[in-house]
Amino acid sequence: MREGKAKQAESVAERYIMACHECDALQHVQAELARREMVLCSSCNALLYKFMPASAVERSLALYLSALILFAIANLFPFITLKMGGREEMDVLLSGPAALFAAGNFDIAMLVLLTSIVFPLLTMLGALYLLIPAYFGRLAPATGIVYRAVHRLMPWSMVGVFMLGVIIAVVKLLDMAQLEFGIALVAFVALVPVLIIAQQHFSSTLFWPPQREIPGLDHAALHGRAHHHGLLHCHTCAYLVRQPDHGHVVACPRCGDTLHRRKPDSLQRTWALLITGMMLFIPANVFPIMTVTSLGQGEPSTILGGVSHLVDAGMWPLGMIVFFASIMVPISKFIAMIYLLWSVRQGSSWRPEDRTRLYRITEAIGSWSMVDIFVIALLTSLVNLGALATIQADIAASFFAATVVVTMLAARSFDPRLLWDALEEKAEAAPCAEPAHA
Ligand SMILES: [Zn+2]
Ligand SMILES: [Zn+2]
Repeated sequence: MREGKAKQAESVAERYIMACHECDALQHVQAELARREMVLCSSCNALLYKFMPASAVERSLALYLSALILFAIANLFPFITLKMGGREEMDVLLSGPAALFAAGNFDIAMLVLLTSIVFPLLTMLGALYLLIPAYFGRLAPATGIVYRAVHRLMPWSMVGVFMLGVIIAVVKLLDMAQLEFGIALVAFVALVPVLIIAQQHFSSTLFWPPQREIPGLDHAALHGRAHHHGLLHCHTCAYLVRQPDHGHVVACPRCGDTLHRRKPDSLQRTWALLITGMMLFIPANVFPIMTVTSLGQGEPSTILGGVSHLVDAGMWPLGMIVFFASIMVPISKFIAMIYLLWSVRQGSSWRPEDRTRLYRITEAIGSWSMVDIFVIALLTSLVNLGALATIQADIAASFFAATVVVTMLAARSFDPRLLWDALEEKAEAAPCAEPAHA
């Protein structure tokens, strides 16, 4: 590992060959220039490559170890205690999914359990499994499989969104009850930035050096877009492979991921998932999402009803956050995805880099809609005081959770390179330019 880095530093005159995962443009990056922090794609500004200094493995290892310790504290100690009318409800992190399971909301219980506890834990363990041998200059057995698993699970590990859910739930409850914050909550607050920074620095370049050549191809002749040269680009580890003539399925020689020229049936899958998401969004808004019962009185409320309750109670910043995450984000995603799909179909040549950016934002914001589901999980477990007060999840919570998952899958099944393919069909291929360095 470190020897590789040393060699890399010696041969600064060399060039790396890379393809952009969002527009398929081939880029030659001088090794010397690549020693800067980041290299952006020259045609769409996607992050192409992040330079990892010799200390990157140590830094990543330290971040992930700290995250794991904080995560253990966050799970083992009391999180929040609610006191109301002489009664007490002490919560641990697992109480949210447990309360939803107990109330029969298996689907959202499972989703909250996976996205707030299981997936973050698995990504941390997977990263440490790779980083500890890398620290000693070795590659762990089955590095490809584990790297791929960590890479796939990261978007579904939602500690940041969960934290926002905790803030909303706490502000909501402070109005009606007394809260005591446990050591686990402090650990969780510290965990969020540590894990986010750790994930941002977790890159394939920690384990595999950047690619210098593609066997059988003249480096200097590689211009334009990767598919012009029959090259397949690995979405997991960024390796470039020549497509064999027989057209069989090719696995990435580094990480083992299946390689495709474009994501298979991207447009059809995205349309199908998007339409499903839009259909689920209707019952998610028509039916009640949550019922708050206090001293035997209470009624179910819809998402919008919940927002107006918050605004009426003077908590309009919270109302705005819930409105934005639960209504605006899904609707913006539907509109953006429909526009992107339509523009591919039309072969639109209008501002391809802006459309690629629109896709990037659409993909990134999707998970924030989960915040309402996390709020419901926290409220269900904390406000569980029998006749005094209870909060329970209703049918729309399941529809809403399904909307979020399905639209996230829709965004992930869209291949932004199709935007550029459609453009290319209209015009001649753009010449390969020097990549921009940031
Ligand atoms: Zn690009
Ligand atoms: Zn790969």
